[in-house]
Amino acid sequence: MKVKIIKEQVRPRKTLFVFDFDDTLAHTDSVVRLQRGGEVSDLDSGAFASYEYQPDDRLDFSDFGRVDGQLIASTLAILNDIQRKGKDAVIITARPPEAIGGIQKFFTDNNMASPDIYATAGSANKPQVMINLLSSGDYNHVVVYEDCMKNIEKLGDVVRQQGIEYSAVCINKDTTMSKVYQETIIRLTTQQLSRIIKEELRELIC
Ligand SMILES: [Mg+2]
Repeated sequence: MKVKIIKEQVRPRKTLFVFDFDDTLAHTDSVVRLQRGGEVSDLDSGAFASYEYQPDDRLDFSDFGRVDGQLIASTLAILNDIQRKGKDAVIITARPPEAIGGIQKFFTDNNMASPDIYATAGSANKPQVMINLLSSGDYNHVVVYEDCMKNIEKLGDVVRQQGIEYSAVCINKDTTMSKVYQETIIRLTTQQLSRIIKEELRELIC
């Protein structure tokens, strides 16, 4: 009986696939120019992913609007397959919105349709975009492809908070992939749970 109840619970899965851009789909050499005090430094995408804003910092994103990328074939092939199967895929990038046109061009240059792109101007804003995307209530599974473990963890936190199954694949520096999370959450309604408890109790009493 318990098996039957759990089977009833399994809804058709609708998965949202979320891709990062830099060092996940493409290696690029764009930098953000940071002016802090009297010093100027350039942050590449990896350094910018862990950058923390300090008051009076001045950031120049103009170079991030330029997307000269060397594609990462393995992840791009996965995204292509997802798109061909008509599944939902988006890009959430820490780049500023000015970069969206350049990323779209990267896809057309590689004969692919561009997924929807959310440019958050900093990694700290990625989880809020995820929350907004999940607010439709359409999804019961999220798969993230990312090269930054911190982002994988932060995105996982907000996905799980909504009781949604979370899987993540980390793109390593040499472009190999590691599956970081693969989770299954079986959610039961209060009614289903009370039925299970009653049956357990009945068995105990008999
Ligand atoms: Mg990245």
